Amino acid sequence: MTTPRIAFIGAGNMAASLIGGMLAQGLPTSAIRASDRGAEQREKIAREHGIEVLASNAEACREADVIVLAVKPQVMKDVCLDLAPHLQAGQLIVSIAAGITSASLENWLGPRAVVRCMPNTPSLLRLGASGLYANARVSAEQRQQAEQLLSAVGLAVWLDEEKLIDAVTAVSGSGPAYFFLLIEAMTASGEKLGLPRDVAAKLTLQTALGAAQMALNSDVDAAELRRRVTSPAGTTEAAIKTFQAGGFDALVEQAVKAADHRSAELA
Ligand code: NAD
Repeated sequence: MTTPRIAFIGAGNMAASLIGGMLAQGLPTSAIRASDRGAEQREKIAREHGIEVLASNAEACREADVIVLAVKPQVMKDVCLDLAPHLQAGQLIVSIAAGITSASLENWLGPRAVVRCMPNTPSLLRLGASGLYANARVSAEQRQQAEQLLSAVGLAVWLDEEKLIDAVTAVSGSGPAYFFLLIEAMTASGEKLGLPRDVAAKLTLQTALGAAQMALNSDVDAAELRRRVTSPAGTTEAAIKTFQAGGFDALVEQAVKAADHRSAELA
């Protein structure tokens, strides 16, 4: 695959992580251009990453193979309508905006190869998880280009149906907050048992990290790992039985379904 030329429209937080990730993977600075309407933001991104950052979205897209739409959803329609007359045939559009369908993008940009992505905030640390959907106009090479882009900031998985973007939003998009909620609750519980708050917080966080790393490294699933650390009549079993008696699994399912439903409503 030849090195694709990538243009970022909107050089905010998520674009900066993707740019950093791509450069860390060895893409030359000359292969990436960006545009942003904020002069300070343009200077900051150019300084931090050594790439050209322009004021004109149309100019940034000229000669690009991949155009990453990284502005907020509220301004996406106007950005696309302005950009449409300047696009060239064969350019891949990658949108990371929440809640904007590929049909809306094609409405504003004309018939186009479009990949829609749902990244999450840990992408800022290159520990992200993204779901990707490609419309029928996307070629095999363009799929690879989109995957390379998103995998520069973490895990990237392909979805067969666009509506599954809502499920990805519900699981990994909003997911960091669910873990923060558990971390909050465990820290508060540790504190109630007499641990100093900072100690309870540190123990909880390290345990979350260790559990995720163990599960990632393991060739068995989380349920099996849990069984292995739950001795009959032991301390872990006492806690797990309490979670289950309180309807933990059903509550999580209800919560994730609520997020999926809300994501579909917002699209
Ligand atoms: P951000 O506000 O940091 O970046 C958006 C940038 O777009 C800003 O720098 C702004 O100056 C620029 N901009 C605004 N209007 C413009 C225009 N007309 N032309 C050019 N540039 C313009 O936002 P972000 O957090 O990086 O989010 C960007 C997109 O990523 C959003 O659509 C969001 O839904 C999506 N997203 C973000 C996250 C996340 O974790 N931050 C997760 C999933 C999806």
